[in-house]
Amino acid sequence: MNDISRKQSARLFEKAQKYFPGGVNSPVRAFKSVYGTPLFIERGDGCFLWDADGNKFIDFCCSWGPLILGHNHPTVRGQVEDVLGKGMSFGAPTALENELAELILKNNKKIEKLRFVSSGTEAVMSAIRLARGYTGRDKIVKFDGCYHGHSDSMLVKAGSGLVTFGETSSAGVPKSFADETIVIPLHDKVALEEAFKQFPDEIAAVIIEGVPANNGLLIQDKEYIQYLREITQSYGSLLIFDEVITGFRLGFEGAAGYYGVSPDIITYGKIIGGGMPVGAYGASAAIMKNISPDGAVYQAGTLSGNPVAMAAGIGQLSELLRPGFYDELNAKTQAFVSAIEQYIQDKGYRVKVSFIGSLFWFAFTDKDIKKAEEIDPASMDFFKEFHRELLNRGIYLGPSGYEVGFISAAHTPEVLENAKRAIFESLDIVK
Ligand code: PLP
Repeated sequence: MNDISRKQSARLFEKAQKYFPGGVNSPVRAFKSVYGTPLFIERGDGCFLWDADGNKFIDFCCSWGPLILGHNHPTVRGQVEDVLGKGMSFGAPTALENELAELILKNNKKIEKLRFVSSGTEAVMSAIRLARGYTGRDKIVKFDGCYHGHSDSMLVKAGSGLVTFGETSSAGVPKSFADETIVIPLHDKVALEEAFKQFPDEIAAVIIEGVPANNGLLIQDKEYIQYLREITQSYGSLLIFDEVITGFRLGFEGAAGYYGVSPDIITYGKIIGGGMPVGAYGASAAIMKNISPDGAVYQAGTLSGNPVAMAAGIGQLSELLRPGFYDELNAKTQAFVSAIEQYIQDKGYRVKVSFIGSLFWFAFTDKDIKKAEEIDPASMDFFKEFHRELLNRGIYLGPSGYEVGFISAAHTPEVLENAKRAIFESLDIVK
């Protein structure tokens, strides 16, 4: 099959390279580990994307997760249009912030108070500072392969964006900062026990992605997640769930609700903003009272609680509260993945598709993978071919084999049927 035309995308990319490092404003977008120049997207509608060359794709990236309702959803757009004519930003409180907070706190009992910020990175960075301020301790435990945004102390062994380019940590992070971050493998009780034995009074928090989904989809056992809750409690440390991907995706209460655990602090992003730049962190009222201006932990933002972004969030989250929303989305994903797994099994291909909620991931292996170190970098060569074949058949997955796929409410059974056919054909070529 011929490769899709990329004439316009290539022209735009050439121009972009004059302006931006690598021609992009976020590294994985550069298509470094897959074929061809990045596709420049012109518009999206429902579960479809159109690029600058007029190619149409079924979108399984969904802007890396925020678009759980698909592109251009009428409720989200309607809310945004209603506020647009009233001004873009005031740097002062608005009723919209109350409205979005009320929608969240009435229906997500895992937090009592929250603070809106403008990205997932900011949410995590602030949550870490809060944990340190609250406990009076400095060290943070994170897991190899978990990505928590690009703040200094979290850029140590941090998943897709870095491993896609063959690195696991970033230059420019002072050693003294990295020294405060203890990195251990996922799904390893002994490593965590050793960290606590070595630093019994110094660990402010253990942070984990609700479901690790930035270095493949590394689904942890429920029992391990409960263990994290117990051990952090017994050492007086906080448990932070980074739910930037899983928040409002696995259910309205995210991974915390899914696993039935109560983390001390939870961070959100992506879905909470309906496609606009929004993040949030939340906790019990007792922990949140340590945030400025009530408490001594400083955190602020010129555009925090931006009215246009709040409106998009209100539109999106109100749709998620419709009865049966998650059951339908998750059942649809399960049926989609099961059919692909069946095909793979019938053909005897060495591929696995893991999934949880409406997240899925193709792993070119026959092993069950729970830790970052279990992923064979050589398997990414298969993904590179797979990605190319899928694009040629009108399927858009994020341009890295370490990234997960997202299914939205806009992916109809008919569209998923077509997508399956394209996936089967691509697997037949790649194996
Ligand atoms: N935490 C997790 C789990 C993420 O997946 C991401 C982004 O993908 C972030 C934090 C950072 O969010 P943002 O890109 O909005 O800064």
